[in-house]
Amino acid sequence: MQTSTILVIDPDGSEMPRVSAAARPFGSRIMWADTMEEGTRLLAEARPDLVLASDAVPGLSDPRKLLDDISRLKLAAQLVVLSSDPGFDRSMELVSDGVFVVLRKPADESRLRAVIRRVLDGLKLMATLVGRNRTDSERELEIYKRLARTQELEPLVAAVREAGDRLAYGVRTSLALAGELARALASGATPSEGPGSPDRTDRLEADSEDGMFAFDSGPDPDPPSRDCAAISRELSFRGTALGTLTLSFPDLAPEAAIEAPDGLDELAWAASLHLYRARQYHEAVRLASHDPLTSLLNRRAFMECLDREFAKAGRHNTPLSLIMLDIDHFKSVNDTFGHQTGDRILRWVAQTMAGTVRTGDIVGRIGGEEFAVLLPWTDQEQARNLAERVRAALASSRLPTKSSLLRPTVSQGISTVDHFLINSPEDLIYWSDQAMYLAKREGRDTVRAASDLRPESNPEEHRYVFQWWEAQGPQGDDAHADALQPPGQPRRVHQGAGLDGQAPRGPGRRAVA
Ligand code: GH3
Ligand code: MG
Ligand code: MG
Repeated sequence: MQTSTILVIDPDGSEMPRVSAAARPFGSRIMWADTMEEGTRLLAEARPDLVLASDAVPGLSDPRKLLDDISRLKLAAQLVVLSSDPGFDRSMELVSDGVFVVLRKPADESRLRAVIRRVLDGLKLMATLVGRNRTDSERELEIYKRLARTQELEPLVAAVREAGDRLAYGVRTSLALAGELARALASGATPSEGPGSPDRTDRLEADSEDGMFAFDSGPDPDPPSRDCAAISRELSFRGTALGTLTLSFPDLAPEAAIEAPDGLDELAWAASLHLYRARQYHEAVRLASHDPLTSLLNRRAFMECLDREFAKAGRHNTPLSLIMLDIDHFKSVNDTFGHQTGDRILRWVAQTMAGTVRTGDIVGRIGGEEFAVLLPWTDQEQARNLAERVRAALASSRLPTKSSLLRPTVSQGISTVDHFLINSPEDLIYWSDQAMYLAKREGRDTVRAASDLRPESNPEEHRYVFQWWEAQGPQGDDAHADALQPPGQPRRVHQGAGLDGQAPRGPGRRAVA
């Protein structure tokens, strides 16, 4: 490869000595500009491979301008921003705009060296790609740039598919592998997976003519053991271990001497970069949908699942139940033992619930000390059994504090879609809530279902509903029901505050048999 060029844009040149030292092993030519004007001029003249720009340069408050210049000049250069105060959010924003990485000033020499190595390796890979298959060079370059920069995974995977057979075999495998890995990781992030995101072990294999690529990821990746010759590369990026890439040769004995094929390191590099970005994306999705204290789905994500499951249950005419759970006397626990103990109880209850439900059940924290479990394919009696199991598990446990043993108790309310008053996800929440309040009134540490609600249990709250229910029965009609509404009142039957702070919905407009 020709001598690489690094352009440093820095007002006082204070970064120059460290950049020179870090770049020494690569024999790069280093140029220095102390203003933006000079930097832009050198960008066009010297066509650098890497630009290191300090955000202290007047005019560089927005590095996107520099990125525009780089792409206008059709340079393959990567931009690294040096900042004395690189906040996490700002760094993420810059990286998603196309900045390679944001480094804190004064830049650490070994960090700088790692970045320079990665950028130059990337360029070398690009040069190899272009050299291997000249007819498709433009397309490959484009795909590689997307691979290196994109955080949007779908377009990348589509591009890999589209390029298909036209790419040389090695290139195709590398791009497809990295794209598939990213997609597999990203698709593991859908909130519908329920309680927590289980630790997944991803394993992808791509057949090839002369070997097999296998990838294992997990907290402690071990190369897969095979009784044949194999070469492995650790995949890691920015100090994060991501897995192991193994190229195995089924026809060769384990002790056979094999040379690493061309491109293996580049493949590992590309896969690491892309995996790392996929992880970031995965983590961002996880943070947006999970409650940090309990790791359960948060309210918003839970409600999305509820809408989806409600629609599914309607389409397939299958049962669906919802349990609302509220910790008893939680305020006094906080007041007596402190918020830290309160938080421990919240985690304890969350763990107990997540450990009791079956795969496919969905658990969320939907308020301070309020939880919900959504149970697809589950009728009221099965839901009651599950709620009883949660209650029993909590009843038999003790949470030690400095001064005593606590036994947290909970009240739970259940409703099920086959209840004729339930026509919407909001109805399901409303009636589970009503059942939960009934459990509170009837002594706490207990389970009640919507069908346990009787007018006498709270005449004020339920008068209209149950008049309606009794007069109309399951076969009744809306006209009859409307006649029972108090004059001038909308068809809402409960005036208390709902879970979301809005007046809760009463029964839906249509009763179902
Ligand atoms: P009840 O049996 O009727 O449910 O009584 P309660 O005391 O549990 O009910 P209330 O709704 O009055 O109290 C809820 C308490 O939950 C009040 C609030 O301080 C506490 N809380 C809400 N979120 C958190 C949290 O994240 N951590 C802690 N420690 N406490 C919380
Ligand atoms: Mg509460
Ligand atoms: Mg409570």
